[in-house]
Amino acid sequence: MKVGGPAEFLVEVEHIEDLAAAHAICRGCRAPFTLLGDGSNVVIDDAGLAGLVVVNRVTHLNWDEKRRQVTAGAGFSLDRLVEAVSFRGWGDLTFAAGIPGTVGGALAGGAGAYGRLLAEMACRARVLSPDGTMDTLPVNTLGVGYRDSDILRCGQIVLEVTFGGFQADTAAGLMNRIAAIRADRAGKHPPSDLPCAGSYFKNLPPPSPGASRIAAGLLLDRCGAKSLRRGGAAVFHRHANIIVNTGGATAADILALADQMARLVRCRHGVQLEPEVRYLHNRS
Ligand SMILES: Cc1cc2nc3c(=O)[nH]c(=O)nc-3n(C[C@H](O)[C@H](O)[C@H](O)COP(=O)(O)OP(=O)(O)OC[C@H]3O[C@@H](n4cnc5c(N)ncnc54)[C@H](O)[C@@H]3O)c2cc1C
Repeated sequence: MKVGGPAEFLVEVEHIEDLAAAHAICRGCRAPFTLLGDGSNVVIDDAGLAGLVVVNRVTHLNWDEKRRQVTAGAGFSLDRLVEAVSFRGWGDLTFAAGIPGTVGGALAGGAGAYGRLLAEMACRARVLSPDGTMDTLPVNTLGVGYRDSDILRCGQIVLEVTFGGFQADTAAGLMNRIAAIRADRAGKHPPSDLPCAGSYFKNLPPPSPGASRIAAGLLLDRCGAKSLRRGGAAVFHRHANIIVNTGGATAADILALADQMARLVRCRHGVQLEPEVRYLHNRS
C-alpha cells in the first residue's frame, strides 16, 4: 500500500539456504524476523520494523513432466506460475490469474479467487519451522483455509511449493480464460496509481452449509462505506471492501479507516469483520 517506516535491516534472498541462514542468525540473537513476499497483502507500521526484514526472491521452477507437477520457489510470482502451467496446457490454475504476490505468500495466506483456494492445487510444500527444522510436508497438513493457515499462525516459512493434479487441456483455451479473468479483475480493482492490498476484510462464513460466503463488500456498501476516508486513505469508489492510498496515506490512516468500516458493519449488521490484510508491526 506504499505506507510504513523503514526496516532496521533488509535483505533480499535468492536461495533457500540464504533464507534459512538469515532465519538462523535472527534466532541466534533473538532479533525480530519478518518475511515478505511481494508485500501485496500487508500494511507496515509507520514506525517501521525492527530486526531483519527478508524479501523472498527464491524463484526457481522445476518441471516434472511425467507426473505433471511443478515445484516453484516460494518467491516466484503466482500470476507468472499460472501463465507458465497454462501455456503448457496443464489445467486448471486459471482461477488464480491476476492475484498479485508470490507463491509462498499465497499459500501461507490461504489465497484464492472465484470460490477456489490455491492450496487445492498444491500437493506438498517445503517449510522452515520457527525452531529451524526444514521439512517437506503434504499441503493438507498445513491447515490452509480461506485466507488463513497454520503456516501463519505457527510462524512457519514456505520455501517451495509443488503443484499437481493438472488435467491435459489446450493452452489456447487456458490462455483465453486467463485473459478473461484478468479483464474481469481489472474492472473491479483500482488502477496501479491507487495502491491497495486487495480486499481489506475477509468475507463472512456461509450462512448455511453449501451456501456462498457473505461478501464483506456488500455489507460495507449497504453502510455507505464508499464515501469514507481518513487522511490519504479512502474506500475505493467501485468496491467498498478495498482501501486505497490516494497519496500520502500513513499506516495510521489506513488502520483508523478500517476500524471505522468495521464499526459501521458491527453497528448496522451485528457482525464483526476480520481483516484479511496483515498489519506488520513490533508493538506489543
Ligand atoms: C489488487 C489486489 C488484488 C488482490 N486480489 C486477491 C484475490 O483475488 N485473492 C486473494 O486471496 N488475495 C488477493 N490479494 C491479496 C494478495 O495478493 C495475496 O494475499 C497474496 O497471496 C499475498 O502474497 P505476497 O507474496 O504479496 O505476500 P506478502 O504481502 O508479502 O505477505 C503476506 C503475509 O504472508 C507472509 N508470507 C509471505 N511469504 C511467506 C512465505 N513464503 N512463507 C510464510 N509466510 C509468508 C508475510 O509474512 C505476511 O504475513 C490482492 C491484492 C491486491 C493488491
